[in-house]
Amino acid sequence: MEISIIGTGYVGLVQGACFADTGNSVVCMDVDEKKISNLKKGIIPIYEPGLEEIVRRNFQEERLEFTTSLKAAVERGKVIFLCLPTPQSEDGSADLTRVLAVVEQIATYANEYKILVSKSTIPVGTVDRIRQIMRKKGKQDIDVVSNPEFLKEGSAIEDSLKPDRIVIGSKSKRAISVLTDVYAPFVRTGNPIMVMDERSAEMTKYAANSFLATKISFMNELANLCDKSGADVEWVRRGMGSDPRIGQQFLFAGVGYGGSCFPKDVKALIKTAQEHEYEFKILRAVDEVNERQKRLIVKKMLRHFNNQIQQKVITIWGLSFKPQTDDVREAPALVIINSLLEIGAKIRAHDPIANSKVRGQFGGKVEFFDNNYEALKGADALAVITEWNEFRRPDFDRMKALMKRPVIFDGRNIYDPKLMREKGFIYFGIGRNGE
Ligand code: NAD
Repeated sequence: MEISIIGTGYVGLVQGACFADTGNSVVCMDVDEKKISNLKKGIIPIYEPGLEEIVRRNFQEERLEFTTSLKAAVERGKVIFLCLPTPQSEDGSADLTRVLAVVEQIATYANEYKILVSKSTIPVGTVDRIRQIMRKKGKQDIDVVSNPEFLKEGSAIEDSLKPDRIVIGSKSKRAISVLTDVYAPFVRTGNPIMVMDERSAEMTKYAANSFLATKISFMNELANLCDKSGADVEWVRRGMGSDPRIGQQFLFAGVGYGGSCFPKDVKALIKTAQEHEYEFKILRAVDEVNERQKRLIVKKMLRHFNNQIQQKVITIWGLSFKPQTDDVREAPALVIINSLLEIGAKIRAHDPIANSKVRGQFGGKVEFFDNNYEALKGADALAVITEWNEFRRPDFDRMKALMKRPVIFDGRNIYDPKLMREKGFIYFGIGRNGE
């Protein structure tokens, strides 16, 4: 199958590589000339475990190509996947400017039957808008499909090759049949391909992300109450999660959710509800709780240091919004660093992968270190913001020797408070029995 991918970012590159890996002929298009020329040289623009190998192999075997020409990509692909950004607009809604502009161009270039598939997260009703554009340009024979993407950064290849489910929003038998065929190699273990109407498919993606964000904000609220009431949220999490109706996943309290999806998707669903004259009360709270949670650790520091943070050296471990990715979009670490800089702290930061993505953002006010222990030298406190594996079992004695004061703010609850106290640290977790 000839497949074109429009937008070669986290979703587009991973999906393009996986489609090529199952024997399709794939061209990935992007407006970013540097990105495309680098990809042609084998330089992968993002960190994603396993991606480099799969891109290189399929490029060498000529199943995967890269281009900056939208026209060439549209003419070539029978199935065209839109993997374009749909960021947050100022009013909270999803900004569809890029998607709709590209659709206009696709309508101009497409001269035969095509299946235009949105993997971009788009609000309910967007497929209808895209169809209208096609109709206006006399291209009503083009099938427009919603096919939301559920991959997770950090395990994107695995998620794409073995998705929990594929959602296809379409009423066209022809499009459904072609897409079912394209996805068949990925669902051999029996995971479902769910065919539904376009609006339900569009809504499914927002529902899934918003529900996961709700779980996180719920646990963060619970953790804050645990701090005040003397319970330990880690025990509570285990106790409640063992009920199969609740489940163990996504019950971790922390410094709030970030990334390129949850924050914007929650806000966009609130906005969609408003447009339909409905107030989505839970989601408003989810968003507010998250904003507050991102600032919690700084509050804990201020309390510990009696509001005297000026000139204190704070080491930050972890910058990406979660482990196994270099993505720092909406990362809580950035909010925390900015707040600390504002109140005069000195920041020493380390991330195993994402240092280079953040370096330019603080105008030289943050020192970055390739080694996590180096970053600890002379620190008045350590804040663990991202739970990279290598932070889980560090050499605590070495840490203590390097730090000026043995104070740890554990934003991901990766350490045992009792052990930390035994080792001589002053320890603060999230909801771990003590503010
Ligand atoms: P991204 O920013 O990593 O990639 C988007 C790419 O599109 C960039 O390379 C950019 O240069 C390119 N682009 C921008 N304008 C273009 C244009 N006019 N023509 C061609 N290319 C253009 O974004 P992403 O994280 O891959 O997300 C893409 C979509 O998928 C979004 O709607 C997002 O919500 C959704 N999504 C993302 C994830 C994720 O984990 N990142 C998961 C599921 C769904």
